[in-house]
Amino acid sequence: MENKSRRNFVKKLGVSIGAAGLVGGSSILSSCNQVETASGDTITLLTSSGNLVEVDKSQLKPAEMPSLSENQKRGRAGLPNRKWVMVIDLSKCRNARECMKGCQNHHQLRPEQHHINVLQMQDAEHTAPYYMPKPCQHCDNPPCTKVCPVNATFKREDGIVLIDNERCIGCRFCIAACPYSARVFNWFEPRDAEKYEGVTYNIEANVPQKKGTITKCLFSADRLRDGKLPTCVSSCPNGVYWFGDQNEDAVTNGTTHETTVFSKLIKDNAAYTIMEELGTKPRVYYLPPKDRAFPFQGEIEDNHS
Ligand code: SF4
Ligand code: SF4
Repeated sequence: MENKSRRNFVKKLGVSIGAAGLVGGSSILSSCNQVETASGDTITLLTSSGNLVEVDKSQLKPAEMPSLSENQKRGRAGLPNRKWVMVIDLSKCRNARECMKGCQNHHQLRPEQHHINVLQMQDAEHTAPYYMPKPCQHCDNPPCTKVCPVNATFKREDGIVLIDNERCIGCRFCIAACPYSARVFNWFEPRDAEKYEGVTYNIEANVPQKKGTITKCLFSADRLRDGKLPTCVSSCPNGVYWFGDQNEDAVTNGTTHETTVFSKLIKDNAAYTIMEELGTKPRVYYLPPKDRAFPFQGEIEDNHS
């Protein structure tokens, strides 16, 4: 089903029961042409406009999901027997931002859009500032996928959290749910839109991008399928990124091409994941910014007084 007709479909539901884009409950509404006898048993649902509505349970039916294209099915399945993992060495990042540029080019992002951001950090007043690249954490327990009312964003077996822009209705519930601010909304037509006219949509790259839908870091799932490292990993000139397969317990450095044992790398260097107290179980590990061999040249604001 095309985007337009799916949106109309959801709109139609809204007319029938006064609620579109419903969240909560175990069923999603489908055809409302048939009028069932009210059971008297009601359920409270949240509409996409933020209102709570009481609906008789007899009006709830399993949604008729449109059949998925081969591209969509392949994108949902992921790569068999893999568990992708990323390690970011904060002691090596010197704010070159080549990861950001490479990612923007690969994913047809506008200048203000980023799947990965290099942040300027300082943990306490008397500690050294450092740079911190932050992509989607590809959480093993992702809050973002749980709130999507149309199953447009999902977690694959190989660890990647993906988005299907052909299903996304742009409600932005997932943006609100992500504690890492990893998701980006396509408010405008994508960059170089005319160049991508007629290009077949690739669910593993979110290209061509679609106005009114979500995008984010995908660990360059399309490149992994071709046996390549993610764009950010390959673009970095400073050896910051390691990427690999946790099942093989091996990660490769995108700059030096050296491969090492993942479990040893994170253990020997006291790696950590961010905001792990939330229970999100990120698949991105950070090596602490110790023994940095170059001066920090950013501008850290004094937030400690
Ligand atoms: S970082 Fe955010 S967008 Fe990425 S998987 Fe986790 S909750 Fe979802
Ligand atoms: S905006 Fe996010 S939550 Fe809403 S449909 Fe798109 S992927 Fe799902």
